[in-house]
Amino acid sequence: VPSRSIAEVGEFAFLASLVARVPRGRATIVGPGHDCAVVRSAGRSLLLTVDAMVEGVHFDRDWLSPRQIGCKSFLVNASDVAAMGGRPTACVVSVGVPATYRARDLSDLQAGVVAAARAVGASVVGGNLSRARQLFVSIALLADAPPRIVTRRGARPGDFVYVTGTLGDAALAVRLLQQRRPRSRPVPAAVLRRFREPAPRLRAGRVLVASGLVSAMIDVSDGLVQDLGHLCGQSRVGAVIRAATVPRSRAYCLHAGAGDTLALHGGEDYELLCTVPKRHVKRLQQARRGLGCRITCIGEITAERGICVVDASGQPMRLAAGGFDHFRDRD
Ligand SMILES: [Mg+2]
Repeated sequence: VPSRSIAEVGEFAFLASLVARVPRGRATIVGPGHDCAVVRSAGRSLLLTVDAMVEGVHFDRDWLSPRQIGCKSFLVNASDVAAMGGRPTACVVSVGVPATYRARDLSDLQAGVVAAARAVGASVVGGNLSRARQLFVSIALLADAPPRIVTRRGARPGDFVYVTGTLGDAALAVRLLQQRRPRSRPVPAAVLRRFREPAPRLRAGRVLVASGLVSAMIDVSDGLVQDLGHLCGQSRVGAVIRAATVPRSRAYCLHAGAGDTLALHGGEDYELLCTVPKRHVKRLQQARRGLGCRITCIGEITAERGICVVDASGQPMRLAAGGFDHFRDRD
């Protein structure tokens, strides 16, 4: 049998088979397949996560300044910690750069990582620098785990699906940056900021987990439909999403155009997606003021597997593309 490429297997199918073969260690409380692992260390529970940003895959050098690349590399990890209700403490940073990369830019990039970590009470405690064909930044982040652990696995049929903030801005920014011509209008600042300087929902994540009201949670990094698919897959359930209720920013509504589906499948929003049992909905209404952002009900968990997005008249919508798959979505 000829060995298939990762692109042929698919990013998520490959990861699923890999995860199934990873043996459970002595320190493992929650293993792979969630936003963070939960590990036991000296009697305490810690969250551990890793994520990379790669030039030409996650960004172009003229879309993000070196400082923004550093900041964002940290923040995408912090978003995974937010999804588990944790508090980031320390990180190590691995950077790969072409030999021609400017030393001053590398200093700015590093300053971005340090500033982003500091802003959420964490510190950079080590790193590694190597030569590479393209710029990449990989960060492993450690965080204090909350007393109660919420993963992607607890959603049950009948639970309501909620999302924080608004969706689609970052993907819209990428689309506008890609389309940009010499004399086209500038990309709106509010939309660009969501792509360049994402703000992970650390506070909302902690409040939601501590409240005991959410049954499962994930951050939206690859697009709503795809990330909800991961949550539902782990929980062995499905979901119905009402497209018209998906929260969009004013800037998005102004610039994306009516009927646009970027808010449903565009990536890099770094909002939180969670499920809430019906009996807790009233208490969630009371807790929402402490979140520091809006939270919107967009649908419901179903026993029937699969994600169904329905339009305003209740008809299932056919979406043009799913979320991001590293080995399928190539330029
Ligand atoms: Mg995540």
